[in-house]
Amino acid sequence: MTDLAVPPQRAFDVLASVFGHSSFRGEQGAVVAHLVDGRDALVLMPTGAGKSLCYQLPALLREGLTIVVSPLIALMQDQVAALRERGVAAGALNSSLSWDEVRSVSQALDRGELKLLYLAPERLMKADVLDRLARQKVGLIAIDEAHCVSQWGHDFRPEYLQLGELAARFPGVPRVALTATADPETRRDIIERLGLQQAGEFVTSFDRPNIVYRIVDKDEAQRQLLAFIEERHRGEAGIVYRATRDKVEQTTEFLRQHGIDAWAYHAGREAGDRSQVQQRFLAEPGQVIVATIAFGMGIDKPDVRFVAHLDLPRSIEGYYQETGRAGRDGQPAEAWMAYGLADVVQQRHLIDASPADAAFKRHAMARLDAMLALCETTDCRRIRLLGYFGEAYRTAEAGEEGCGACDNCLDPPQTWDATEAVRKLLSAIYRCEQASGFPFGGGHVIDVLRGQSTEKVRRFGHDRLSVFGIGADESVTQWRSVLRQLTIAGLVTTDASRYNALQLTDAARPVLRGEQPMRLRRAVEGGRRKSRSAVSGRGRARAAGGAAGGGAGGGSGAARGGGDGAGAEETALDTVAMAQYERLRNWRTGIARERQVPPYVVFHDATLKAIAREAPRTLDDLAAIPGVGPRKLADLGDSVLAVISDATPA
Ligand code: ADP
Ligand code: ZN
Repeated sequence: MTDLAVPPQRAFDVLASVFGHSSFRGEQGAVVAHLVDGRDALVLMPTGAGKSLCYQLPALLREGLTIVVSPLIALMQDQVAALRERGVAAGALNSSLSWDEVRSVSQALDRGELKLLYLAPERLMKADVLDRLARQKVGLIAIDEAHCVSQWGHDFRPEYLQLGELAARFPGVPRVALTATADPETRRDIIERLGLQQAGEFVTSFDRPNIVYRIVDKDEAQRQLLAFIEERHRGEAGIVYRATRDKVEQTTEFLRQHGIDAWAYHAGREAGDRSQVQQRFLAEPGQVIVATIAFGMGIDKPDVRFVAHLDLPRSIEGYYQETGRAGRDGQPAEAWMAYGLADVVQQRHLIDASPADAAFKRHAMARLDAMLALCETTDCRRIRLLGYFGEAYRTAEAGEEGCGACDNCLDPPQTWDATEAVRKLLSAIYRCEQASGFPFGGGHVIDVLRGQSTEKVRRFGHDRLSVFGIGADESVTQWRSVLRQLTIAGLVTTDASRYNALQLTDAARPVLRGEQPMRLRRAVEGGRRKSRSAVSGRGRARAAGGAAGGGAGGGSGAARGGGDGAGAEETALDTVAMAQYERLRNWRTGIARERQVPPYVVFHDATLKAIAREAPRTLDDLAAIPGVGPRKLADLGDSVLAVISDATPA
């Protein structure tokens, strides 16, 4: 149910004067209209699409205080800083604040001076806080990262469950739940658990057209990562996700040894250290963060150029949220992942071995399977991803088969008739076990197939088996890929508690008997695909607002993620403009330091580029540039003009 309400005129005024945007993006306008009207809503937008505006703007239009529930302190601090820069009376109450700060926010609250108050759920639900808020006129309640309320979700937080009581505590106050990750089931869960009344559901296209997706066969993960960074993202900001703290430390060390400015982030590190890493990442260019999934929620760094996964995420939701942190400025970015058989085995084992109940395990397994299907697909990754979120990617009209900006579209993978090869592999697994009385792991079976007379092969006499050497024509990489695909297809299981020993399932029988043909994806030797043409994927990433094939299905309005709109018709800067841009960036760094805010809170890259390109000479000219709202103009306008005119010969 999406309503067609048009936001009131004053919404457009505030959009321009406070936020400095020239138009609403996607469903923003409809959400604003709905909330200003005093109704509940569920908002689903991909990371970077502009969720915060959906409640920040109504907060300014509605009478009284807007309460914002948010799980992470880092997120609150950033949002509050950005709002204050825009002249909005915002505050947060959380454990990171000093006594004085808490007191001053509390006093402002009691005097009814605050427009927005950010709180973590556990703090909001404390009796004294609720009492304090009950004395205020509350105009709106926003619940950010609302998927945390769902037990099915990938990020369940028990403290979110209490938020169901808000309906009774604040009767008649509209509530809006926002999330970037929700399949239809989680969506229903959110509405039910939060008790949203006849909530309007606003779904913006989940497409992130400026992100190129790539998934490669894992070979030597860290070396592959290094090559990826050096060849495509040297000196650029990125995030590398790893599954465990140990791996985070290892990969950080590895990258540092190879001259990459890498920093580790995980929950095992001290809070002070973590926040320093985060602050530096926001403030300084070109850093790479290696992290567990503890990192990233609420980090609004617009110029992250790549997100890499060296371990398989547990679900598409998680993967999409993490990769969504790339390219929030609408400029080309990449999501890159290396994955292999060990990932599959490990994840399945983790689910099996977990103490959760059967229903939960079934769910977890289904999520993992969807993730694996994405990895193995030979057609467009974007179509798969969006399909997972219930969205049809419209390509038919554009006469295209895929998005043109994922590895499978840019460089179509080969498939092959692997029926014979599969039979050889299955027979080898079977023969080895039969000969020795217990099953063997993949490495050994592949040695036997390829006729490698290793010490172990000789010890078990497997060099005398009929299957010895029958697969010498294929490489180890190819065999590993076949084995991985058979594992995913359920023809082979791997027993993680028995040295990853392989066993055939019933599903393997018809294939073994030659009754069922098998077409598989062919692995690329060395784990990297040769580029089909000179077109690099990165160059092909459609910039925000891109035309061909960029249409979005599902939701009515597509989120074209353009950083403050200025990136939309990006043209290259000439040398004069480039020099101006550098000067502006230096100036911005100074202001950001002085005010202790991240640079993009001062101005986005896209805005600085537009200023450099347009070279405005008056405040009026400057005001016409998207991203420069009246407040920024009054605050920083003269300073910007001075920077520019200094460099322009009169
Ligand atoms: P989300 O919370 O959905 O991840 P944010 O609310 O942090 O996204 O917004 C992402 C970026 O998009 C921010 O840099 C914001 O300034 C920008 N943005 C939001 N709405 C608009 C708009 N209507 N026009 C231009 N830029 C916008
Ligand atoms: Zn594609």
